Amino acid sequence: MNVHDSERLAGLLESAGYVPAAQGADADVVVFNTCAVRENADNRLYGNLGHLYPTKKNNPGMQIAVGGCLAQKDRSVILDRAPWVDVVFGTHNLHRLPVLLERARHNAAAQVEIAEALEVFPSSLPARRASHHSAWVSISVGCDNTCTFCIVPSLRGGERDRRPGDVLAEVEALVAEGALEITLLGQNVNSYGRSLGDPGAFARLLRACGNIEGLERVRFTSPHPRDFTDDVIEAMAQTPNVCPQLHMPLQSGSDAVLRRMRRSYRRERFLGIVERVREAIPHAAITTDIIVGFPGETEEDFADTLDVVRAARFAGAFTFKYSPRPGTPAAEMDGAVDPAVVSERYERLASLQDEMSWAENRAQVGRRVEILVSEGEGRKDSETGRLSGRARDGRLVHLLVTGPHAQDGVVRPGDVIEAVVTRGAPHHLTADGPLHSHRRTTAGDAWEAARSRGSEAGSEAGPEVLSPAGSVSPGSGQPAVSLGMPTLRTGPAAR
Ligand code: SF4
Repeated sequence: MNVHDSERLAGLLESAGYVPAAQGADADVVVFNTCAVRENADNRLYGNLGHLYPTKKNNPGMQIAVGGCLAQKDRSVILDRAPWVDVVFGTHNLHRLPVLLERARHNAAAQVEIAEALEVFPSSLPARRASHHSAWVSISVGCDNTCTFCIVPSLRGGERDRRPGDVLAEVEALVAEGALEITLLGQNVNSYGRSLGDPGAFARLLRACGNIEGLERVRFTSPHPRDFTDDVIEAMAQTPNVCPQLHMPLQSGSDAVLRRMRRSYRRERFLGIVERVREAIPHAAITTDIIVGFPGETEEDFADTLDVVRAARFAGAFTFKYSPRPGTPAAEMDGAVDPAVVSERYERLASLQDEMSWAENRAQVGRRVEILVSEGEGRKDSETGRLSGRARDGRLVHLLVTGPHAQDGVVRPGDVIEAVVTRGAPHHLTADGPLHSHRRTTAGDAWEAARSRGSEAGSEAGPEVLSPAGSVSPGSGQPAVSLGMPTLRTGPAAR
């Protein structure tokens, strides 16, 4: 959600006339879009702000803005701790950033503006998308659940759903710009439609995405086991462009812990969904999130989590040590688990999950997989000469291409290739060897055209372009700013 919000912030600023700073140059404006879900978000923010202080002191015209969840939580505390910050804005008023920067400059005074409710749905704002071939599309913001460990509802508010026609219009517009893959985004996609009086809306949305010509891959995140219904499994299985992938947070395999987390499903229900998904979509890669050491977690509770991990055969898991978030009910609970015990359990869980992921990935060896080539997924690609991309089931694949496709520039980010898996590692697949097919795509064309434009701009010492990671690289082929989707547009899929 934050990554997508950052795309909106970049789009807003560029629409207001700002250009990304060249690599190595001192920027005139620095924006931090913060997250409060991970531990130490505040330490990292204040550390970064402290690091910028000397630069700001030497360049008083420079502006620093802080937005996102931590800003929504800390508000003016940010100015108390870092008085050299110019603008503080929250999760509900991203659209105000250009105005607040302008006002801070004009009044020579810091501006703090936090809204209590969503003012403008972020999807109506311009965006600088990080990729040509793949895009996030919000279907809802906020969350109506009350998981006791989670700070999200208090910072992002209750769930607000977008109308299906608006979502589909945005998807169609992205596909028209060359996107092949979209990820539908919501804190709980399975409750999508409830606020519209249409509880089956998510399954229908998936099926409607299946009617969009040129849309090759549909993903979504995150589902909630409590609200996950069989009509969604049927829609996933029967809609060819919905990818065989499911990321469904487990959090704990112990019913007692789930109860204290206020996650109102139980392990049997979770495993039942996994089983039905596997029945309907045999090659689905299922991944999850797990928290270790929630208050009161006993060795028996933890053993239940390990059992579910074994039974579910997750292809991967994001595992976290529990750490209290001030302001959440769990932060007030008794029964804190000794940090040494948490670490020991975490290691046991991580090593079991690695074993499971590795076994699942080794089982892929010899399979022919379709890969959407991407840029920036393989950190060592420039050293190893490999390409990287994602298989339809979301697995990361690295390839050392041999034969005629090996020439530089033949296979471009955004193109679709097929190769045979030669090795399974715990966190990725390798598919070295000749390609079985290569399809040049509109996304690849768009990447190439943007790279040429970037190279020309670079040779004229014009502004360079932001990479997905936020660094700057000349001619890396980044997409242009696209407009937001303020109104309903009816296309074939919407109808
Ligand atoms: S479902 Fe629970 S964990 Fe997820 S955003 Fe909502 S409250 Fe947080």
